[in-house]
Amino acid sequence: MVARQRAIPEVKFTHPAKVFFPQNGFTKGQVVSYYLGVAKFILPHLRRRPITLIRFPDGVDGEKFYEKNVPRFAPPWIKTLAVARRHAPGAIDYILIEDAYSLAWCANLAAIELHPFLHRAPQLNRPTAVVFDLDPGEGRDLVTCAGVAFLIKGILDGLALKSFPKVSGSKGLQLYVPLNTPVTYECTGAFAKAVAELLAQQHPELVVSRMAKIRRQGRVLIDWSQNSPAKTTVAVYSLRGQSALPFVSMPVTWEELDRCRATKRSRALFFSPAAARKRLQRRGDLFAPVLTLKQSLPKAFGSARALAAPALARYRAKRDFTQTHEPPPAPVHRRAGKRPGGRFVIQKHAASHLHYDFRLEMEGTLKSWAVPKGLATELGVKRSAFMVEDHPIGYLKFEGTIPQGQYGGGTVMVWDLGTYQLLGGDLGAGNLKLKLTGKKLRGEWHLFRIRREQGKEVWLIAKSHAAAKPISPRQDDRSVLSGRSMRQIARDNDAQWKSSRRSIER
Ligand code: MN
Repeated sequence: MVARQRAIPEVKFTHPAKVFFPQNGFTKGQVVSYYLGVAKFILPHLRRRPITLIRFPDGVDGEKFYEKNVPRFAPPWIKTLAVARRHAPGAIDYILIEDAYSLAWCANLAAIELHPFLHRAPQLNRPTAVVFDLDPGEGRDLVTCAGVAFLIKGILDGLALKSFPKVSGSKGLQLYVPLNTPVTYECTGAFAKAVAELLAQQHPELVVSRMAKIRRQGRVLIDWSQNSPAKTTVAVYSLRGQSALPFVSMPVTWEELDRCRATKRSRALFFSPAAARKRLQRRGDLFAPVLTLKQSLPKAFGSARALAAPALARYRAKRDFTQTHEPPPAPVHRRAGKRPGGRFVIQKHAASHLHYDFRLEMEGTLKSWAVPKGLATELGVKRSAFMVEDHPIGYLKFEGTIPQGQYGGGTVMVWDLGTYQLLGGDLGAGNLKLKLTGKKLRGEWHLFRIRREQGKEVWLIAKSHAAAKPISPRQDDRSVLSGRSMRQIARDNDAQWKSSRRSIER
């Protein structure tokens, strides 16, 4: 018996003199030679990741196309990974670039750009990083993107998450947050979206979080949607075919980005293939930590303490504090208690519609729901509750009037006030079991989210365990703070709130 010889891959290069970038005459042969020159650096970032190729068979002035399925003529030593199609039967045989041979073979296919997924085989729903793709709209450029990258970094730093920027080699840049720990796309996608939406709220003139082209004019899109099992992002060290000259998607340091932001000059952040190779020889792989650094996203980042201050941006944005006496936004950082829970308030609010606002002290702010009919006291009775923006802790004792014409204009009564114990569930999961000890309401209630639509959350609040003492009409119209009725509060036309820290015994 003759042992089968291991086939040595043979890559046949074709048309090396063909010009791919007419502006500087960069040829197909130079594309192949670039990739072979950086193989040692790029391969670790490609390994075991299914890849979409962007092929430019006639160079950057010709037609380009996306190649997901391995071409039928691929030699047998090209490794592939079959991935079930998401919306159709069958599978896509993605190319895996595991060695310099397959890299060279792809380059010879005129695959100027390599776009890997954020996951690695065999765990196709486990991204190894979060990516923020910053895409400048018309009138904005890499300098603006650098500024936005620092805004994202600010939030990430607050969460003790390290992040690594790279220029895209086209117009924008990408920010990677290495994870390399068990996580799902549901989680990374929601996280990236929350960060993008916060920044879009805080800097509406600069940042958008939604794809619509019209919104992007003069702004930077923080494209969070790349954090999806269906999306690929241009690889670090990939060439780009988006401009007349060949540039490389290259890691940059925060100092370099800062200089770009300060000088408003971005030329130093465009790397030709030669400059990229020189830089790699000199500085090594600045993106190496993206492959190795283990980090975890905060568990319930929607309510994470570090995101609490930005979360109050929605509260701030809706109000003019020269007009209203409502408390200014200020997150209160307190040490976690031994028992999960905190204070709660229910405010009766005669705005355009009479309703009750139910607020729970959690993670440095008040998580808030508008409950049109208030909390039920009869066992099993459910009431709709619409989640609204976080309110500052100071709102616990806000009673008075909000000027007409202001957001929520009308009368606010502190209807009930007390403490709650979290018996089970958590906010992120959309399920909270609470024991309230208020002046009016005592007992157990169950809150659960029934749907999310257009960023709004609809919840139900049900009386659980046993019925509570019913509320008399007289009690219903009496403030637990001042003893006043709604009419009296409106007539007094004052507003009060105090720093309510420790003013209620826990
Ligand atoms: Mn309200």
